[in-house]
Amino acid sequence: MSVFRTVITSIIVVFCITLQTVAKISYAENYNAPKQLKYTFTYFNKNDKSTLNVLLEFTGRQEKETIIELPSQYGGINELYKNITDIQVIGATIEKTNTPALLTLYHAPSSKIILSYNVRQSWDGPLSNFDNFLAPIFQKNYFQFIGNGILIYPQSYKNESSNLKWVFDWNVPNGWKVANSYGTNNLHQEFFASFNDVINSLFLSGKFTLSQTHIVGGDVWSAIRGKWPFQEEVFNKIVANIINNEREFWNDNDSPHYLISLIPIKTNKTGMVGTGLTNGFATALKSNYFPNYPMWSVISHEAFHQWNSPDIFDVTDKGNQVYYYWFTEGFTDYYADLLNLRIGLILLPDYIKEYNEMLVNYFSSPAKASTIEEVKENFWGNFAVEKLPYQQGKILAHNWNAFIKNKTNNQQSLDNLMRDIVLFSKEHSKLNLEKMNDIASKYRKENLIDDIHHIYFGDPVNPDEHSLGPCVYQITKMLAPYNPGFDVYTSKEKHVITSVDLNGKAFSAGLRDKQILISIEEHPDDISKKIRITVKEEQAIKIITYYPYQEKLLPIKQFVLDKSKWETNPDECLAWFK
Ligand SMILES: [Zn+2]
Repeated sequence: MSVFRTVITSIIVVFCITLQTVAKISYAENYNAPKQLKYTFTYFNKNDKSTLNVLLEFTGRQEKETIIELPSQYGGINELYKNITDIQVIGATIEKTNTPALLTLYHAPSSKIILSYNVRQSWDGPLSNFDNFLAPIFQKNYFQFIGNGILIYPQSYKNESSNLKWVFDWNVPNGWKVANSYGTNNLHQEFFASFNDVINSLFLSGKFTLSQTHIVGGDVWSAIRGKWPFQEEVFNKIVANIINNEREFWNDNDSPHYLISLIPIKTNKTGMVGTGLTNGFATALKSNYFPNYPMWSVISHEAFHQWNSPDIFDVTDKGNQVYYYWFTEGFTDYYADLLNLRIGLILLPDYIKEYNEMLVNYFSSPAKASTIEEVKENFWGNFAVEKLPYQQGKILAHNWNAFIKNKTNNQQSLDNLMRDIVLFSKEHSKLNLEKMNDIASKYRKENLIDDIHHIYFGDPVNPDEHSLGPCVYQITKMLAPYNPGFDVYTSKEKHVITSVDLNGKAFSAGLRDKQILISIEEHPDDISKKIRITVKEEQAIKIITYYPYQEKLLPIKQFVLDKSKWETNPDECLAWFK
């Protein structure tokens, strides 16, 4: 299910969809035993191997037979049960089934069962591969895992929504602090939570720099490893600002705890990977690489899913959640940047630049005319298809916002509709297009269904020329996505040309891997200017120039900030976005 986003210069992977679509399976089992799962975690280093021993205590089913489930698949990683060894049981006998991730326990009715097992990391050495990020990471100095990666549980507990009691006891090496989705610095934890929430939780301990910021409703913690071009406290304050701002938008301060972790990956590939989790976010970056705004944008997007998730839609087959991705992903992308603009994390000129870039990517996309059936069919594994609902939804959100503002004389905006839609799903019933259509008509946005049917047919979504307010006008330019054809970031870092795309213009112009990089002049904002690279090869100096794009130039709508209006009255320009 994981999709690597190779964008030549960077890899940005976000596992938000896999997280939000955890299957809700109902079991027709009559289960009367107390609903408690107690786990005791003991972490130790022995013979250069780090191991997590887990003791699980629970009550077996009255029916004298309990199926337990081992970790199997998560975030594109398969056969996670292979990391588990030495399973022992007290109070039952254990038998294999035909499925490696399922075991059967036989026991007296409703008897107490204790299960012990060890978990290890599936590779040797440090974290050096983006692919392993969501697997249990067990190092000498720290560990990090997601519930899905290590927890064994009785299968009959899977449909427990909120009345399941969890007890966690932690035995970690001296001086290590424990942090997870349910608290920080707490070696004994007891709480009630749904099965899905805990299985999608983040757990870590060891040599992290922990920082804490108090916001309304609770605390935002960050756990950071490695050296970065920022102070840990500053990072923590920015994340807290993002979370606080979203809680204010939704007027919802119900989650007392939020944890974000950041760890370095020792790799030659430039990029970042991240996943939204219960009360938290886990991210990893190439060592020394920090992308700045894209990082805040991803955190903001993932945090927004706490409210705008596929769960609010009436979809039984989770494969059909794709019909609402224009909303759950596209509108979430819209709000990620908009809410960041409101707290000054992105400035208006950069907000416009981001939107323009997205428009170039959308209108140049080979997938732009895909029907919803084609999107559903090819979503995983085709980057252009995967991005499409994000792009369509983000344009639609800007257009609808302008439409509602215009119809209501700026008294209302998409914010009102957005909150109403999500609130409806909480207070009444799950949503479908008809219900959304009814809610939208309250805001004078008639015929919502027609707009969505156009998307389903693969018709282009054109950005409304007035959709960025009174200080921004629209033009059409001949454009293609910026594409330098090699890994600029890593090449600059190593002073050696790296990852030249053999089909790109850089290669045609003579750029080759391993040439010594002397200087580079690039204009990512203006593809009509050539990139100019000076390299050394076998003592000879070469100057290589070429236009930094690959696709055909197309006429594409772009937004331009009226400089004089922006300079004379920025508040009036920003008022549109409030
Ligand atoms: Zn998402």
